[in-house]
Amino acid sequence: MKFLISFLCIFSFIKANSQMDAQLQKDIEAIEDKVIDWRHDFHQNPELSNREFETAKKIAKHLRSLGLDVTTEVAHTGVVAVLKGDNPGKTVALRADIDALPVTERNDLSFKSEVRTEFLGTETGVMHACGHDTHTAILMGVAEVLTKNKHLLNGNVKFIFQPAEEGPPPGEKGGASLMITEGVLQNPDVDAIFGLHINSATPVGTIKYKPGGTMAAVERFVIKVKGKGSHGSAPWSGVDPILISAKIIDGLQTIISREAELVKEPAVITVGKITAGTRFNVIPETAEMIGTVRTLDPDMRAMVISRMKEMAPAIAKAYGGNAEVEFQNNTAITYNDLELTAEMLPTLKSLAGEENVELVKATTGGEDFSFFQEKVPGFYFFLGGMEPGNKTPYPHHTPDFMVEDEGMLLGVKSMTQLAIDYLNK
Ligand SMILES: [Zn+2]
Ligand SMILES: [Zn+2]
Repeated sequence: MKFLISFLCIFSFIKANSQMDAQLQKDIEAIEDKVIDWRHDFHQNPELSNREFETAKKIAKHLRSLGLDVTTEVAHTGVVAVLKGDNPGKTVALRADIDALPVTERNDLSFKSEVRTEFLGTETGVMHACGHDTHTAILMGVAEVLTKNKHLLNGNVKFIFQPAEEGPPPGEKGGASLMITEGVLQNPDVDAIFGLHINSATPVGTIKYKPGGTMAAVERFVIKVKGKGSHGSAPWSGVDPILISAKIIDGLQTIISREAELVKEPAVITVGKITAGTRFNVIPETAEMIGTVRTLDPDMRAMVISRMKEMAPAIAKAYGGNAEVEFQNNTAITYNDLELTAEMLPTLKSLAGEENVELVKATTGGEDFSFFQEKVPGFYFFLGGMEPGNKTPYPHHTPDFMVEDEGMLLGVKSMTQLAIDYLNK
């Protein structure tokens, strides 16, 4: 019996690793310390969106040291490198986002960020509070390992180090959409793209994924309501834009609760800010509402937007005022191509173990990797960064956010093997 158990253990070990080349596996394990050092350095020296100047220099220096063809200043501070495999074939892109956030770090770490800056007029700390330091370090490791093993590649790998995933500062362009405009998916033309996000509430060694709509399209909307000012004691001589706003908010929620086919995918409308009025006895002339829409299905997205544009002015009109609705799109739907996801899943399962790759539900957060997926088939998954057993992981974008160094090794393995397997299939 004992013999049988150990035989089964050895068998499952061999089976689990059968896909990865032995030398490649050694190279990946050997690079872990470097990846951790890079991560600590980026963590200690975070830079905000569109301001990743030193981060980009370090990335470019590393990629040049590998002998890769490197382009800098793509979409302001982006860095792109192409590795040609020993054999011709398709081109696969691997993407890491590199920016940090205006959050003041509260973790007690040897590599804690003490960086401070001014953001939109407020003095603040700067922190890799979303884990993009790990994404950057992982992809630098993958670039080194794949360069060493380019005899395994039938085609090209394009490494995309993307700035401003969290959104460029007001008035600036940036991120994935600007990289696409500047031609990042061309020359050589990208056939498919992979990306990952480390997660502070997913245990180290595990992967989560979902085919189809994975993260939401994010719209920002502004509704401007116009009424007619009057004395607060005599509402009959005016048109109250505050009352109209209340009716509009109420009405908009019925688009979700009565019109959206919620068994298909979830959808959200949130009004996050209302501005109107000056004092207790004045009915103002105007009111303004700002909010967000989150959708995971292209048809539902179109429906919600068009119904909001119809409904808000109609409600305003019913009460004697008028309303205008404007939309600005921040991210598309992070949509995992069904065929590509099915094709690449065995790779992740062989690396992490079948039981450590979990199918999850969609989230209503947004991710600008979605813009790449609008252009080419893409697959985006979540990588465990939580110390196993941690009962109170802190969420992303908070001062106590933390992901473990140990989580990155599976990230390096995954991105490396996904590229190889995609090109060789
Ligand atoms: Zn984030
Ligand atoms: Zn992020």
